[in-house]
Amino acid sequence: MTVRIAPSILSADFACLADEIARVEAGGADWIHVDVMDGRFVPNLTFGTKVIETVRRLTSLPLDCHLMVVEPERYFESFADAGATGITIHGEVAPHLHRQLERIRELGVRAGAALNPSTPLETVRDVARDLDQLLDAARSAAVLEVDGGIARETITAAWRAGADTFVAGHAVFAAADPGAEVGELRARCAETV
Ligand code: ZN
Repeated sequence: MTVRIAPSILSADFACLADEIARVEAGGADWIHVDVMDGRFVPNLTFGTKVIETVRRLTSLPLDCHLMVVEPERYFESFADAGATGITIHGEVAPHLHRQLERIRELGVRAGAALNPSTPLETVRDVARDLDQLLDAARSAAVLEVDGGIARETITAAWRAGADTFVAGHAVFAAADPGAEVGELRARCAETV
């Protein structure tokens, strides 16, 4: 099974974002994770289209955009235009999840559904079935991503539990060598295969 490490630039030093991204890219990062927060679904305010455009110019890695926002559909087109490779929306704020995921795919962007830990899996059950059919047809497997709290101490358990894609912010960018840390995290999955 493929292991993907997706450093979250939320934890990067924005004064030297280009260097931060270059370091994790050199270290073998698979995706760059962009946490978009609107100050409504979550208290914080973070990035918008402009930052996605900037990051797009800094790397050729896939940009995994995680929308922690209400009314996420307002941003699909501008984020796709800005260079998002994937757009993940929350089941908690998407009453028409199936239609919204379809809209993301129509824009040529990988569509993801996210759940907070306290949200029942029921929320995505219908959508998961649709995605499985789609992905089966493509002879692929759905990505199972864990976002939050991933570090050397936690990644192995998440990998053993079946996740294949890991968002790591602080663990990577607070490390003395962020590039090497990407490899350290990946190694902790490989050891258990
Ligand atoms: Zn995230």
